[in-house]
Amino acid sequence: MSKYWSDVVHKLTPYVPGEQPKLNNLVKLNTNENPYGPSPRVIEALKAEAADTLRLYPDPNSDALKAAIAETYHLNANQVFVGNGSDEVLAHVFQALLKHDKPLLFPDITYSFYPVYCGLYGIDYQTIPLAEDFSINIADYEKPNGGIIFPNPNAPTGIPLTLAQIERLLQNNSDSVVVVDEAYVDFGTESAVGLIDQYPNLLVTHTLSKARSLAGLRVGYALGSPDLIEALIRVKDSFNSYPIDRFASAGAIAAMQDIEYFEKTCRQVMATRDDLVKKMRALGFNVLPSGANFIFARHKKHSGLELTEKLRERSIIVRHFKSPERISQYMRITIGTDAQSVALLRALAEILS
Ligand SMILES: *Cc1c(COP(=O)(O)O)cnc(C)c1O
Repeated sequence: MSKYWSDVVHKLTPYVPGEQPKLNNLVKLNTNENPYGPSPRVIEALKAEAADTLRLYPDPNSDALKAAIAETYHLNANQVFVGNGSDEVLAHVFQALLKHDKPLLFPDITYSFYPVYCGLYGIDYQTIPLAEDFSINIADYEKPNGGIIFPNPNAPTGIPLTLAQIERLLQNNSDSVVVVDEAYVDFGTESAVGLIDQYPNLLVTHTLSKARSLAGLRVGYALGSPDLIEALIRVKDSFNSYPIDRFASAGAIAAMQDIEYFEKTCRQVMATRDDLVKKMRALGFNVLPSGANFIFARHKKHSGLELTEKLRERSIIVRHFKSPERISQYMRITIGTDAQSVALLRALAEILS
């Protein structure tokens, strides 16, 4: 607290990201990073970018990156917005598209950055409780609103909505923007991108941090009608002209273009997940159905906090949320390599015995 601070700063409750421990040899399953490195073509592109040209500013419009993303989804470049991680994209989305007289709606259990952005930008919001089984009930969103946002699959539950459910939401809310945060969609969930040409109120956000193994590069993007994209560009050009630096652009383009590597690593993560789910259930865990690169699991006889701490003593880091109460018995476990799954299962078996 300081007399020098602006008023708004006193009232902020900043987002707390998962821990990035500065220790080696950890089985790090707490922040949903990809266990596989980025495509070798990304590394090559980054090396080539380490050159004299770094003295020059990057392209403020990121045209080459937008073109690569547009090509991936068969969209036009004016339907693509790029930013410094999808967190920055989301920040611009909240400011540019979700601040209205009526409240923004999102689930009570979801990505905990959403209420933080509302605090930063002074956006009125209302949370909608998840159903008993932790799924999003679309009918609960049929009320006056100034926008709707949720991740699909949801975080930290991992539970996906179907495309039909999302389409119903879009049809019933044609006067407000519906943002589908598809950070984890490539791990087996249906994407809403195909609905963009049909629904001018749909905005889909993606990140290269998860499925494309580039959390360290900080690139994310939004896809939607040119009208929605223009609002984001206006905010971005009032904030930072060059959010995508030369490395980020070169690396992200290479990542978008190496489709084979992307598909192979996603398939591997999903296979490891499905195997882990089976084996954890055999150990007595209740595991929610996951369309993501993480699972949300609890044990009947052991508290989430106890298990998290005992795993930590064995150098395995998972994420535990103390609140809300409803999820305090769960652990969110990122899908790692098969070897990391083996280590996790061995540790859990030891703790439970
Ligand atoms: C990881 C994540 C993001 C942010 O990703 P960036 O690393 O900022 O691109 C956005 N939404 C959800 C739901 C996430 O889990």
